[in-house]
Amino acid sequence: MLVPTTCFNCESACGLLAYVDRETFEVRKYEGNPEHPGSRGRNCAKGPATLNQANDPDRILYPLRRSGKRGENRWSRVSWDEALDDIAARIRRALSEGRPNEVMYHVGRPGEDGYTERVLAAWGVDGHNSHTNICSSSARAGYQFWMGYDRPSPDHANADVILLISAHLEAGHYFNPHAQRVMEGKARGAKLIVFDVRLSNTATHADHWIAPWPGSEPAILLSIARHMIERGQYNRDFVRRWWNWQEYLHEVHPRRPATFEEFERVLHDLYASYTFAFAEAESGVAASTIEQIAEIVASAGTRLSTHTWRSATAGNLGGWQVARCLFLLSALSGAIACEGGTFPNGWNKFVPRPIYTPPHPPKWNDLTWPDEFPLACNEMSFLLPHLLADGRGKLEVYFSRVYNPVWTNPDGFSWIEALSDESTIGLHVALTPTWSESAYFADYVLPVGLGGERHDLHSYETHDSQWLGFRQPVVRAAKERLGHHVHDTREVNPGEVWEENEFWIELSWRIDPDGARGIRRYFESKKQPGTKLSVDEYYQYIFEHSVPGLPERAAAAGTTPLDFMRRTGSFEIKRGVGAIHEERVPENELTDTHVDALGRVYARSPKPDPPNIVPVPTPAPDSEGRRHVGVQIDGVVLRGFPTPSGRLEFYSSTLAAWGWPEMAIPGYTRSHVHPKSLQPGEMPLIPTFRLPVQIHTRSANAKWLDEIAHTNPLWIHPTDARRIGVKNGELVRVETRIGHFVVKAWVTEGIRPGVVACSHHMGRWKTEDNGQRQMMATVKLERKESRRDLRRERGVEPYESRDADTERIWWTDAGVHQNLTFPVQPDPISGMHCWHQAVRVRKADPGDRYGDISVDLAKSRAAYKEWMARTRPASAYSPDGTRRPYWMLRPLKPGRDVYRLR
Ligand code: SF4
Repeated sequence: MLVPTTCFNCESACGLLAYVDRETFEVRKYEGNPEHPGSRGRNCAKGPATLNQANDPDRILYPLRRSGKRGENRWSRVSWDEALDDIAARIRRALSEGRPNEVMYHVGRPGEDGYTERVLAAWGVDGHNSHTNICSSSARAGYQFWMGYDRPSPDHANADVILLISAHLEAGHYFNPHAQRVMEGKARGAKLIVFDVRLSNTATHADHWIAPWPGSEPAILLSIARHMIERGQYNRDFVRRWWNWQEYLHEVHPRRPATFEEFERVLHDLYASYTFAFAEAESGVAASTIEQIAEIVASAGTRLSTHTWRSATAGNLGGWQVARCLFLLSALSGAIACEGGTFPNGWNKFVPRPIYTPPHPPKWNDLTWPDEFPLACNEMSFLLPHLLADGRGKLEVYFSRVYNPVWTNPDGFSWIEALSDESTIGLHVALTPTWSESAYFADYVLPVGLGGERHDLHSYETHDSQWLGFRQPVVRAAKERLGHHVHDTREVNPGEVWEENEFWIELSWRIDPDGARGIRRYFESKKQPGTKLSVDEYYQYIFEHSVPGLPERAAAAGTTPLDFMRRTGSFEIKRGVGAIHEERVPENELTDTHVDALGRVYARSPKPDPPNIVPVPTPAPDSEGRRHVGVQIDGVVLRGFPTPSGRLEFYSSTLAAWGWPEMAIPGYTRSHVHPKSLQPGEMPLIPTFRLPVQIHTRSANAKWLDEIAHTNPLWIHPTDARRIGVKNGELVRVETRIGHFVVKAWVTEGIRPGVVACSHHMGRWKTEDNGQRQMMATVKLERKESRRDLRRERGVEPYESRDADTERIWWTDAGVHQNLTFPVQPDPISGMHCWHQAVRVRKADPGDRYGDISVDLAKSRAAYKEWMARTRPASAYSPDGTRRPYWMLRPLKPGRDVYRLR
């Protein structure tokens, strides 16, 4: 029997088809789901490897409670009931005592549409914490300052020129759905341009690959922009209609004529210094090569698709300017929301209105949204140990969910310190399908389901379309097709593995057993009030009420919407969404309008209640409380963009008003690894790239993937290897500003000279045998004063298990955990951790062993303080007495009154 579900191994959410044995209900394999509009039947290696994860002999099958000291790694089995009652009681106590923000949920891969955010909202806690500031916040900030939405949706398949600052054919965001469309574009004749300091698999497919000095990408992009401006090779009408040039002239050049022609003159002068020669001096890429690329970009017209994610944005101080400058090229070309161009993500995404929408929390959480970062794109998650050490708060209950902060974040030893301290983190609940370095420091380890073992909804901006994907527990769906009744997913999943939808409903009922707190009502059945909401009813409601076209499509197939989704796993709501900014605002939304001097249109008409609740930035109302409904252009009221001006913001009044006027237009910020910032002997380390067939913590026991990729050597150019006297495969010591790690050198011309690179996907470790033995080395942790060491004792070895293949393991390598040696480096604007490191590389000492790590926590604390000093806090710079610009996106956005600084 074929049962569709969705891959849970990266953010792309590709469709999978489980092949389920009709008699034994064993899942035999996973393949691609051809019905899925995003992935269209294709997967990367990690999709089919879901089977390995499900059958992993080391996976956690039962709830566990620690029986020794925290971190001692002693466990005993516990029932779900006992765990739930204990956790619920602690949360209930925190809520009763007015400490709602002592409940925190820290998520790695959400893989869902906001379900858990709504759970937190129902509890009244501002406790959402994400991994986004170690992943994509700088890219998001660059996009959000331009268009309100924080992600791009490029139409690669129809582009003539595709410009990528990332490795999208192997590991970028939405990479399989995007990669197949990049290749379609190439097959149509599109030119592919790739900026990457490494010869990635993506770069190997490029027509033009350049390897700029890390952080110099904006200098190159601005030189291309200058070239287009000087030659008049830009879309003049698009710029006139859609850029907020009037606002820019008004704010910055109030004495100059407020005409478009004047703006063009200013624009010319603004970027005149960004010559190809300047770009060459900054990047090391020949001016003639940049000029050649500039000609290609300028020739694309509106068929220019661009994308950057992680990569340079995630690596550098000011990395958000990489996205801002890349989008500048699209905005100059008018290649926005058109065939072959780049769309705002929110238009190519569909989040259906759920059965309940609880109000957002009434209290601000300073541990996740501290004063120093009013413009941070997401929660300052990776600073948590330092914020706790500052004494800024404590936590009663901390959920880590499909997240491994000790291993994934920079400065992991500080996380070990924080997680070991019961006085600041009262209870750590690790919701995880696998053992992780962080789970060892938990009080409860609760096993949650993999891609074929849980329900979720998702929709991503893979192309100009809106689709909905449905993840489901495949054995449950298979059994139900054959007439079995399944009450909860623990009945069909291995051991007592549970899906989180049901877990959160049950936990919420136990927090508020009699409904007196007003929490339980969000988890009750609508059909039978007073009884528990079932997962079937939850999704049935959504599919029947909130997904346009689905009920009709299901009826045509002779079935219900829920059954239709259980059989197809996805639904395409709209194909070709198009240019929403150009849509006229209908007359019924234009009651009592007011048009201001910048053409912003405000009206008193009530806000429509659409079925799609994708988060939208909220520009401020006018002084009389009218709602911002659009923008008047050439006498017509159009939807525009969800920015304060309603237009694309070449000039960000937000940056200007919140203390960063010098950053208000797309510009070039020199990175912390710019040559002028490096000490003698230092070079940049690029740690931001994935291995295409691994996925952080979860894939460590995917045996097919482990056999392919199980190491992360240091990419080093032959000239650098000669300089330090190291040969291929020899050990080197890489010294960061807080410690060092020991790794093997991979001498290759596939890296820019003067720069080294090491993938962050490897280096998993355990201190004892419970763990993912196929990809975790066994180590010893040592501490002496402020020094912390990790010494490798054994690599991976064959072992006996219920899977005979584990005795055939031939690799011993598990890579090196470099992130432990990185200090926190928060970008003062986006809040993104700036991953690139200034390092010294030398031959390893005679006593060094592969995988050794050493860190000085006093130095990591000093680095934290040094980077915090770069910020411009809301309390000093807020223009209006608020903590953060209200219009910007924020998970669990509280009401306006909560934004006020006290
Ligand atoms: S790209 Fe690969 S890992 Fe990501 S969702 Fe698709 S199949 Fe899964």
